[in-house]
Amino acid sequence: METVNKCPFCSSKEKKHFITAKDILYGNKGNFSYNKCQNCELVYLNPRPSEKEIGKYYPKTYEKHKIEQKKTFYRILVDIFLKLQLNLRIPFKKNGKFLEIGAGQGYLLENAEKIGWNVTGIEINKKAAEKISKKLGIKIFTKDLLECKFKKNSFDVVAIIHTLEHMHHPFKELKEIHKILKPGGMIWIEVPNIDSFEFKLFKKKWYALQPPVHLTHFNKKTISKTLNKAGFKIKKIRFDSTPWFFLRNFTDLDKHKWLYIITMPFIYPISLLLALTGKATAMKIYAEKK
Ligand SMILES: [Zn+2]
Repeated sequence: METVNKCPFCSSKEKKHFITAKDILYGNKGNFSYNKCQNCELVYLNPRPSEKEIGKYYPKTYEKHKIEQKKTFYRILVDIFLKLQLNLRIPFKKNGKFLEIGAGQGYLLENAEKIGWNVTGIEINKKAAEKISKKLGIKIFTKDLLECKFKKNSFDVVAIIHTLEHMHHPFKELKEIHKILKPGGMIWIEVPNIDSFEFKLFKKKWYALQPPVHLTHFNKKTISKTLNKAGFKIKKIRFDSTPWFFLRNFTDLDKHKWLYIITMPFIYPISLLLALTGKATAMKIYAEKK
């Protein structure tokens, strides 16, 4: 474990204890404490596993790396959802270059490619990277973005979905994304929302807290200010209204995917209300390189 002396976003040394929690998801032993930066409000794990140590805190069957080979009903729903988001939120460019950092199962890249994007991915889990690479016939980088050394002004879109909160140097990564995006290019970020109703309700048992693999937590103000500082102009912040996150506080949804479908009519109205009031459990941020 390493001590974090300054805020990973704004470098301020002013901090207060925020919450101490156990790893209820993967069962890593011990207590994990988060600090809150008194300058930018970033919530960050301190002490935290170092970059060298972090791998051993992930379970072998890390959810983002499981790849469904069969075309299940669940997978069909996911594909519809991803295509809708791509079509509605990301202006399409012919021969445009699309990078996903933290490609996981590769579902987003697969859908982006089908629409016509020229896709590339980064996925540090070698097994997952190999599977995506084979399936899509594309190169997947297996190192950190900062080590990939992409050229300046290379991409039209960089997507970083539920990945920024896992990074040791989130501000440096945002600056690098800014560098590799073309002028006017778009960054699409998704992160958990520490100002959510769910966090207030479940506190240290909140599903998305996920110590010690979630190293940082953001609210709307923190992420907006920092993106501005990194050279981006915010286009839109949307609060995610899918009921899936909420259900995860109660059960392992990967084992009970049918629950998604039968509970949706009941939970969706609540999720929608939380999304409209900015209290939903996740945020989607779309910003443009200035
Ligand atoms: Zn800060």
